[in-house]
Amino acid sequence: SVRVRIAPSPTGNLHIGTARTAVFNYLFARHHDGKFILRIEDTDLERSRPEYTDNILSGLRWLGLNWDEGPFFQSQRLHLYREAVQKLLDQGLAYRCYTTFEELDALRETQKARNEAPRYDNRHRNLTPEQRAAFEAEGRSSVIRFKVEDKRQIVWNDLVRGQMSWCGSDLGGDMVIARASADGIGQPLYNFVVVVDDIDMEITHVIRGEDHIANTAKQLLLYEALRAKTPEFSHTPLIFNQEGRKLSKRDGVTSISDFQKMGFTAEGLVNYMTLLGWSAPDSTQEIFTLESAAKEFTFERVNKAGAKFDWDKLDWINSQYIHNMDVVHLTDLLIPFWQEAGYSLTYGRERPWLEQLVSLIAASLTRLVDAVPMTKIFFTEGVEFTEEGLSQLQQEGVKATLKAILTALENQPQLSPYTAQDIIKQVVKEQKVKKGLVMRALRAALTGDVHGPDLIQSWLLLNHISLDKQRLNQVI
Ligand code: GLU
Repeated sequence: SVRVRIAPSPTGNLHIGTARTAVFNYLFARHHDGKFILRIEDTDLERSRPEYTDNILSGLRWLGLNWDEGPFFQSQRLHLYREAVQKLLDQGLAYRCYTTFEELDALRETQKARNEAPRYDNRHRNLTPEQRAAFEAEGRSSVIRFKVEDKRQIVWNDLVRGQMSWCGSDLGGDMVIARASADGIGQPLYNFVVVVDDIDMEITHVIRGEDHIANTAKQLLLYEALRAKTPEFSHTPLIFNQEGRKLSKRDGVTSISDFQKMGFTAEGLVNYMTLLGWSAPDSTQEIFTLESAAKEFTFERVNKAGAKFDWDKLDWINSQYIHNMDVVHLTDLLIPFWQEAGYSLTYGRERPWLEQLVSLIAASLTRLVDAVPMTKIFFTEGVEFTEEGLSQLQQEGVKATLKAILTALENQPQLSPYTAQDIIKQVVKEQKVKKGLVMRALRAALTGDVHGPDLIQSWLLLNHISLDKQRLNQVI
């Protein structure tokens, strides 16, 4: 049965590229009723941080990419890697290399001068025991290198990219699989530990970004040396920005927690990532849950070409989720944004009131965070007037009209949609003005602007927190 994994390195927050790869792994696992495994690749002790691990785990959970096994931590599995290195050493498939940094530098310089690609020249591949002893007596430390035959052909059938073919000589000489250490085998390196883990975790399909293609060529040799069955490989397209360059920190947000702070919903973001490089058989369909996408997900429909990051599309998809969300859930999601903005949710601004406020603005939201500026007038005492709002209040007859509304309000202990409409009707009649003028003036006085959500509803909400009379008073 299918077993796939996502293997993030905790050297940064959960990146959109990793999250998208996680989505594809998840969809593939669910499509085949298989297992989705989480492995934290924290062997780089200097750059790995526990807070990044937390960010990665909570990001995956937030997105709904729940894993079936793990998280496994490579830092807790070092014995396995050391054992496997030893096995390769014992079989003569790997060896100790004593070449110093200075010697490697000198080698690179020579190669550069000859216009050759940098590669290790395998100079310590066949040391005699005496030569080895001599290097050790000199106090040199060693790395472990795995033998890569130059003439070796490496081929695999990539599930996205089709037939792939590499040559041993493309791989830069015998490859380092473990770092130096004073006592035997030091820190094993990425390409090696990944293979040991993927074998141990019985991974059937390795699905990862196309930046790992050269690693796959190397790793295939390691599978063979470790006498393990090779999994299938799928290299997914990278994500590009609008200029066609790889999406990076310079594009502003790249981590899932940033997208979350920007007001994207988990469902909207996951839906968007699903379409970053994949399309459904019905390519016009754009709204998917993880479950519905999983039903249709195959690698035949994953693009080879890079996926362009499209903010407009993300916004559109996100707005669809917000507009179709029930008010209770949407209110839950908005409360943290209001709190973050420092809005106080007290003095009448309790749950039922908040839910009415949410119904009022839901259809206008693209991102959750839009609710903050949109509802400012409901959370702050004063009103900021726009130019249009101000000029509305300066129209002839407006002050008298607003005064009449205020008087009517004083006699109206409980404002309802009906009484609010009645007040307006009454004022129109009394003052002999057009209803439109009354509505515009009232909106300007209450909100400072001439545009905004439904006026009667807004008025009722402001009335509940006693801001309507106060604002009318201020402008007359
Ligand atoms: N730790 C690697 C990364 O974050 C994982 C690559 C792989 O899936 O093998 O890029």
